[in-house]
Amino acid sequence: MIFSLFFSRITKMRQSQLFGKTLREDPKDEVAANAKLLERGGFVHKNSAGIYSYLPLGWRVLQKIAKIIREEMDAIGGQELFMPALVERKYMEPTGRWGVEIGLEVKGKDEKEASFVLGWTHEEVLTAIAKHFINSYKDLPTALYQIQTKFRNEPRAKSGLLRGREFMMKDLYSFHADEKDFEGYYAKVKDAYNKIFRRAGLKAVYTLAAGGVFTESNTHEFQVAAPVGEDTILVCTDCEYAENKEISHLKDGEQCPKCKGKIQEKSAIEVGNIFPLGTKYSEALDLRFIDEKGDKKHVIMGSYGIGLGRLMGTIVEIHKDDKGIIWPESVAPFGVHLIELGTKNEELGKKVKKEAEDLYDGLIAKGVEVLYDDRAEKTAGEKFADADLLGIPWRVVISEKTLKEKSVEIKKRSAGNAELVKLTEAVQTLTKK
Ligand code: ATP
Ligand code: MG
Repeated sequence: MIFSLFFSRITKMRQSQLFGKTLREDPKDEVAANAKLLERGGFVHKNSAGIYSYLPLGWRVLQKIAKIIREEMDAIGGQELFMPALVERKYMEPTGRWGVEIGLEVKGKDEKEASFVLGWTHEEVLTAIAKHFINSYKDLPTALYQIQTKFRNEPRAKSGLLRGREFMMKDLYSFHADEKDFEGYYAKVKDAYNKIFRRAGLKAVYTLAAGGVFTESNTHEFQVAAPVGEDTILVCTDCEYAENKEISHLKDGEQCPKCKGKIQEKSAIEVGNIFPLGTKYSEALDLRFIDEKGDKKHVIMGSYGIGLGRLMGTIVEIHKDDKGIIWPESVAPFGVHLIELGTKNEELGKKVKKEAEDLYDGLIAKGVEVLYDDRAEKTAGEKFADADLLGIPWRVVISEKTLKEKSVEIKKRSAGNAELVKLTEAVQTLTKK
């Protein structure tokens, strides 16, 4: 029973049945690689500017990213909950965040003025909930997170999944009795974030940044260097100390203030952001607790965000070549792309099909996630081009030619050359990869 969630997921797919088709041409008006490749591969569909649907392939990738994030949040004591997307005016007014530009307000037909905003962040809502459950120092510390759609009025919506008007965010909030406890937790979140980005195949630089509409103090961003990034960071090539250009006094080519290495200016994508909030929200919404001496104090808070779609888009920006995506195994929609190549000889064709079906079943039985290209009408060239575009880590080809050697051809998406592996050893070889 405890495994039912895991095992009920679909671990296999015949490409002839897969919803969504690959496109030959790049979508019009897209500049960013992630926007082009994800749409061409049938991972996402753009409904409106900055508003995307995740198609079955893309949804699998997003769920893998969500799983990594959940594991690392749970590991630092985060408890998952789920809050409303409609946020009432009464929550945002006390903090002065009602009517700000970033919010998309919602108005009923009979209303003169909006009384709700589509949730673009949840500090206020969670602080109001916490008021009901945090009374004493014994209730602290605590940390809660959700994975939910956020809505923001982003006039600059562009670059595919990197900047949406509607996007999935993991937002974690922590509550503490004192600064020291908060700082300890902030460091834990930093480590958890580093693990998440590493597991997702990215190298993110911990960067000092400004607080924006969240806090007056400095915050930290996790920045992935990429030409398409909208942010500019100044980062040391030796020790990786980094500052966001918005707040930095550092200059390109200068000496690093920490290690005497060299500072370089780089474009980067902000994949995560962590904020010390102090008592800004607990004061505005009157969240207090009774400490050990019996005094009433405001709770100290932090908030911590990661954009799941932006992370997926960033992975594509980093892991790609001129033929398509090269998914890291941890987030790939499938582990193996099994390709059966047709042949003119009917007898041989049947044999190839039979071996491909057997290998498909054999891999699934071992828990390998397989996309099986069983499409009869596609040429070898079309199948290979699709495989390169979709970027599944291992390509396995069965054809008349490989069967002559009683073998299959196995090729890693990220590598140039293929190897022939005996049919009898194929399952074992692939489960070991
Ligand atoms: P930015 O500076 O890029 O506009 P932000 O600082 O306003 O982002 P936060 O409120 O810190 O964003 O959100 C936490 C995380 O959510 C970001 O680090 C990013 O990964 C993601 N995110 C923010 N805005 C968007 C967006 N418009 N589209 C996709 N992801 C986003
Ligand atoms: Mg930010």
